[in-house]
Order: sequence, then C-alpha cells, then structure tokens
Amino acid sequence: MGRKFCVGGNWKMNGDKATITELAKVLTTGPLNADTEVVIGCPAPYLSLTRSLLPDTVNIAAQNCYKVAKGAFTGEISPAMLKDLNIGWVILGHSERRAIFGESDELIADKVVHALAEGLKVIACIGETLQEREAGQTEAVCFRQTKAIADKVKDWSNVVIAYEPVWAIGTGKTATPEQAQEVHAALRKWFTENVSADVAAAIRIQYGGSVTAANCRELAAKPDIDGFLVGGASLKPEFVQIVNARQ
Ligand code: PEP
Repeated sequence: MGRKFCVGGNWKMNGDKATITELAKVLTTGPLNADTEVVIGCPAPYLSLTRSLLPDTVNIAAQNCYKVAKGAFTGEISPAMLKDLNIGWVILGHSERRAIFGESDELIADKVVHALAEGLKVIACIGETLQEREAGQTEAVCFRQTKAIADKVKDWSNVVIAYEPVWAIGTGKTATPEQAQEVHAALRKWFTENVSADVAAAIRIQYGGSVTAANCRELAAKPDIDGFLVGGASLKPEFVQIVNARQ
C-alpha cells in the first residue's frame, strides 16, 4: 500500500520575520524529495508571510484552530479564516495544547471534525506521557485519544495521525525505531478493528519526538512509520535531511 511519506515541521511559538525568511530560503533551495509531502506548522501571525515565501509544493499548517466558523471567541482562529489565507492544513491536539491549555479529547475531536468539514487537512496528535508509559498504559492512552476522534470523524482521507510520545518531545530522548514501530503497528491494528481495513491501510501515522537528521533514516525505514512531526529540528537546515529521510 503506497502511503505517501509526510513530514511536518512544528515551529511552535518560534521565529520572526527575519528568521522565517532565512528558513524559507533553506526550504526553497532544498532539494526536497518530491515523493514526500511537506507541511510547515507556522505561528498564526506569520502564516501569510510563510505562505508567500514558500513554493506551493510546501504546505502550510496552522498550529491550532477553533471548532466553529466565527463568533465571540476572543483570541481564536477559525478554519474558514485559514482557508481564506490559502492555508490548507492544521495541527490539532498537540500535547502542549492538551497539557498547557487543557484541551480535552472531546474538544480536539470537535476541532478535527470542524476543520475537516471546512476543507482543511489535519495532523491529529496523540501520545502518552512518561508516567503513562511506565504504568503500561501507552496503548490505552493512544487508543482513547484516537477513539475520541474516531467517534466523530467518518472520512479519514484528510487526516494524518502524529504519534508523539510526550516524554520524547523536546527532550532529546527519541523513541527507538522499535518502540515507535510497535505503537504505530498497534494503532494500525486498532484502525482495522475499530474503523476499517481500508482506513487502516491508507492512514498515515507520523512519529514525533526529538527527530533529527541523525536518527530519521532508521525511523523512516520502519514499515508503519509514514513520516514525522518535527519540532526543534524543523527550525534548522537539517530539516531538509529529515524531509528526505525515506530512501
Ligand atoms: C513536536 O513539538 O511536535 C516535537 C516533536 O518536538 P521535538 O521534535 O522538538 O521533540
């Protein structure tokens, strides 16, 4: 089954006009493997600038959006606004949104549903904390977070799942390729049993958590790892090597 490799960069709340312009030059020069879908998660104030600096072959994502189209929701942005800016993707359910901003499984699912209905593509993040892993709850947590979305989403064709163990995010502690593959395979099995065999075969599951140019190739060689969501290293020139990790 030919799942197109998909690499996302998550710039988080980093960058300014000058550094983003420099980074865009690096990405434009690449070269980026044309067989890999690239999605840059950019801070909201710089979405238009980033869109204008990068070629159309590089997709741009917001890092959050709300669950309704418009209204009295001070500080929020809607999928309709993103579409209006020619932004085609959004990252939802990142562990920082869950932990720092208190986003629940249910809110994230509502956001995913609305973003899809408005025509955005979604990177939906899931993953366990260190405490949950040590308590043997990795699969239970990932399945619970996925089920919340699956209870509401009927068409998965515009969804990418990012499995991001929280203990590996920004810590330099990457999951081993075997640890990541084990969870990705379990998730795919969950999709087979709870959604459909077709969705399980087609859905792309990214790994995220301290991915670098040094470890990306070994991870990319695993059969159920269909790309990456990259934080820190997406702000550096080595992101080009990560995009090109799949041999
Ligand atoms: C992330 O924020 O999604 C992430 C994976 O960060 P990092 O690559 O820095 O661990």
